[in-house]
Amino acid sequence: MSTAPQIDAPPGDTTTTAPPLGLFGTGTVPAAADLPVEIPVDLTGMDDDDRARTKVITSAIRQRSQELRRDHPVLRHQDALGLAAFSVALLGFVGSGALYLTGVLPWYVTVLVSAAFAAIGHEVEHDLIHALYFRRRKAVRYALLYAVWAFRPYTINPVYRIRLHLRHHAYSGLPDDIEEVSITNGKPWGLVRLYSLLDPYVPAMTRILFTKPVDAEDALWRRTILKASIGLTPVAITIWYGFLLLHLASWLGAAVPAGLLHALTVLTVVWVGPNVWRGFCLHFISSNMHYQGDVEQGNVLQQTQVFNKWYLAPFQVFCANFGSTHPIHHFYVADPFYVRQLMERDIHPVLAANGVRFNDMGTFARANRYAKD
Ligand SMILES: [Zn+2]
Ligand SMILES: [Zn+2]
Repeated sequence: MSTAPQIDAPPGDTTTTAPPLGLFGTGTVPAAADLPVEIPVDLTGMDDDDRARTKVITSAIRQRSQELRRDHPVLRHQDALGLAAFSVALLGFVGSGALYLTGVLPWYVTVLVSAAFAAIGHEVEHDLIHALYFRRRKAVRYALLYAVWAFRPYTINPVYRIRLHLRHHAYSGLPDDIEEVSITNGKPWGLVRLYSLLDPYVPAMTRILFTKPVDAEDALWRRTILKASIGLTPVAITIWYGFLLLHLASWLGAAVPAGLLHALTVLTVVWVGPNVWRGFCLHFISSNMHYQGDVEQGNVLQQTQVFNKWYLAPFQVFCANFGSTHPIHHFYVADPFYVRQLMERDIHPVLAANGVRFNDMGTFARANRYAKD
């Protein structure tokens, strides 16, 4: 493997020394005068062998993608399928909540069933971020993005997530991969990491509000993340912590208004709670199947592992099999989540034969570093 690549400095950037570490913008990539959506991926550091392996994998995925569309023509109706997936997620989420409100389902069944349907909503959001549905109809795409946020409120504004997520692909595994770093990837294990898997937002907000930015880029990303959190995120946080605190107070014997406690309980069971659990499962799988800290820029072989051991199934159910299918996405972003699912069995052997790791549980001890020594 070659050493970490250098990327050309943009015009006007005269920075020659590494800036001090901030929360964001750690100096491994050029300072951003603005926040571009399209980030060129610099591959100059990859050696020929890795390039060849990457090409084999990408070609295999593309070929399987074409075969699936040829054998199942329904897959060509991608916009309709995206809308169908969105409808299934929404109806499943709302239906499960309705069955709780009418006394058919106990709270814990509703939380789990709704979380599984919300996970489909997350995949739809991710596909919309890559413009895989309604590519030429931005208004429809954005309307759907806000609609999937409505039943997944414990997350940031998905329109702001577009920049963060495309940055994830461009700088995957580098400290500048803000999306993954924000969900604990690369941090040593401990109570803070464990808690941040359940709720990455309050710890992130605390750090943003109570520490000072070290440079303009750090400040810019802080502002962006704060803006991305306006809307449903604080509403969901208020409901979740209100629910926990009032139940604790009531248990300790304090006089808590029964109506308020009931309202927070209902909102937690049918809206926020499923997303807290879904988020935990997704963050746990994602932050351990991506490598972090010593990945060569643009080297997709090092960015992820296939993370699908049988005992991870209880988490995979609530993140739409993310650990098993997301590595395919890093090599080829043009397929929606259900196509990745359909090709998983055929592509995994290709990934394995070309050096992508499978179930590397040592990642827990290495704080997600790729290097094993
Ligand atoms: Zn993506
Ligand atoms: Zn990823």
